[in-house]
Amino acid sequence: MQEARRIRELPPYLFARIEKKIAEARERGVDIISLGIGDPDMPTPAHVIDKLVAEAHNPENHRYPTSEGLLAFRQAVADWYRRLYDVDLDPRREVVTLIGSKEGIAHISLCYVDPGDINLVPDPGYPVYNIGTLLAGGESYFMPLTAANGFLPDLGAIPSDVARRAKLMFINYPNNPTGAVADLKFFQEVVEFARSYDLIVCHDAAYSEITYDGYRAPSFLQAPGAKEVGIEFNSVSKPYNMTGWRLGWACGRADVIEALARIKSNIDSGAFQAVQYAGIAALTGPQESLAEVRRVYQERRDIIVDGFNSLGWHLEKPKATFYVWAPVPRGYTSAGFAEMVLEKAGVIITPGNGYGNYGEGYFRIALTISKERMQEAIERLRRCLGKVEF
Ligand SMILES: *Cc1c(COP(=O)(O)O)cnc(C)c1O
Repeated sequence: MQEARRIRELPPYLFARIEKKIAEARERGVDIISLGIGDPDMPTPAHVIDKLVAEAHNPENHRYPTSEGLLAFRQAVADWYRRLYDVDLDPRREVVTLIGSKEGIAHISLCYVDPGDINLVPDPGYPVYNIGTLLAGGESYFMPLTAANGFLPDLGAIPSDVARRAKLMFINYPNNPTGAVADLKFFQEVVEFARSYDLIVCHDAAYSEITYDGYRAPSFLQAPGAKEVGIEFNSVSKPYNMTGWRLGWACGRADVIEALARIKSNIDSGAFQAVQYAGIAALTGPQESLAEVRRVYQERRDIIVDGFNSLGWHLEKPKATFYVWAPVPRGYTSAGFAEMVLEKAGVIITPGNGYGNYGEGYFRIALTISKERMQEAIERLRRCLGKVEF
């Protein structure tokens, strides 16, 4: 049986070649240090786990949840927005629970994109924006994120006929993979752009809490008028080390939230209620673990940035996210550099072209392993890299 066009035409998995090399190296018994995987290595806070256990014993939570989620969880999200950003949200109409924010990001295109429609998608970017667009039959118009523009899309460079046809615009700050941040002024420009072209903004705020040196990331919904043009995705995954729990939300413009809940009610039946109660504990309980998460990643960030700079790079310290985005030395492609450091140093980095064409010439380092392993990776690179030039 031939597979459907929508799955046949998914872009090839760009990490396939490097994954094969990793498997081969492991078979040879090489001690591999992975700076590739962006998945928190610290545990979920104990009080959150305790809440899950208690709620898992309650038979009321054993039945189907509602697809839009517990009102108590949506209220906790609304309270979080009030506390952190001074943003007002109606938990009944302006918040929907998601099975991780990835689920909502993948499904939102099904709500607005017909075959032939366009979404505006950042390049480099989290692959799900493009994949969700393609699965809905749409096309992505890629907005280049370049160092020259602080890895923000140049809104003025988007052709107006493309912008007029576009349904959704995806943006993501603090940004994966570049580590870039956006200020409220940029969000305000996005609101005006969305208004003038009648498109819906989907801001992915997955790293809003993973910030350093006292920096605090703004919410898109703080921009005046944002709630009339868009929604924001976020989740407990990154701030509370809960990627495996699958719990997130979308919030903002009410008709968009309603459309997303309607698609979800026809596809999934919502998040396990015991997990939602645990999520309430994460959002409303003690926040010391979040301070610790920031402290640990910041220390690792400094080891990586100082370490690479001692090898000849000129990296700045990102203000947020657990990624460092770095150029490959002169003479290498992204894939070639990743293969070389795997073969010569047993170190895995993610080639930037895996995030889009504008990621070529870069690689991404994730800060989700111990500082001892990071130091070991830097020393191995010191031994195998000669003088690097850019
Ligand atoms: C990790 C991540 C997400 C999704 O995380 P969930 O666990 O599905 O909430 C979304 N966007 C970006 C950019 C991410 O890196």
